[in-house]
Amino acid sequence: QQFAAQTERIHRFLDQVTKKLIVMSGKGGVGKSTVAANLAVTLSQQGYQVGLLDVDVHGPSIAGLLDLNDLPLLTDREQIYPIEYSPTLKVVTIQGLLDKPDDPIICRGPAKITMIRQFLGDVDWGPLDFLIIDSPPGTGDEPLTIAQTVTGCQAVIVTTPQEIALADVRKSIQFCRKVNLPIAGIIENMSGFVCPTCGSRHDIFKSGGGEKTAAAAGLPFLGRLPIDPAIVTAGDSGKAIAGLHNQTQTDMQHLVDQLLQ
Ligand code: ADP
Repeated sequence: QQFAAQTERIHRFLDQVTKKLIVMSGKGGVGKSTVAANLAVTLSQQGYQVGLLDVDVHGPSIAGLLDLNDLPLLTDREQIYPIEYSPTLKVVTIQGLLDKPDDPIICRGPAKITMIRQFLGDVDWGPLDFLIIDSPPGTGDEPLTIAQTVTGCQAVIVTTPQEIALADVRKSIQFCRKVNLPIAGIIENMSGFVCPTCGSRHDIFKSGGGEKTAAAAGLPFLGRLPIDPAIVTAGDSGKAIAGLHNQTQTDMQHLVDQLLQ
């Protein structure tokens, strides 16, 4: 009965979110969390009400990227209260429930499913235009739970250009198709490096693989983001999108425009 009541609350919450996106990747380290955080911050800066939910139970990165590691998620008997990054961006991450930031989360599938359902049904999110969900890499419990619970969700798949990453993207695409999770499109991250001194472009990890994979699968290609050392500095200092290269900012805006269409 409690489960049914929670399901009801989850549906009530999700019904009033205009767009629900899960950011996925076949592999770790391709920049999925960075893209999720940057999309959320960019959309919220444009005045949209955004919720950013980190369901990467074992390796949550969002709190670090947005400098929220020391902020706990407040709870009472009824609800969990999101961390307010800004008036238009609310964040929920398991990191906010840890006593110490470096504590590991040791749990199996059923506990993860319970946690994710709580984050959807028991959080005071308020009305949202966007819910952006950062999931762990691969096709495990977390993306599966989202696919089965978040009605109307669409996947954004992040990859880097090399074949070894693209092989895993094809698995992610097949996963989405098997669980009936529509795919909004593919983003190619770390796509070329524009030298800040001379302006010339170097394709360090090759480029174009994401676009080709999207075309081969009949999926939209949402755009690319260059390798930008400022992304690392900004992420490591919890400042998300501060100080990014002009090209990165332009490309990020292009991604947001694609998603708003
Ligand atoms: P994932 O979520 O896929 O595991 P992260 O978002 O944690 O990946 O990114 C992994 C590392 O790569 C981080 O240090 C991040 O700052 C860096 N990174 C991500 N995207 C870029 C980029 N476009 N240019 C440079 N570094 C990047």
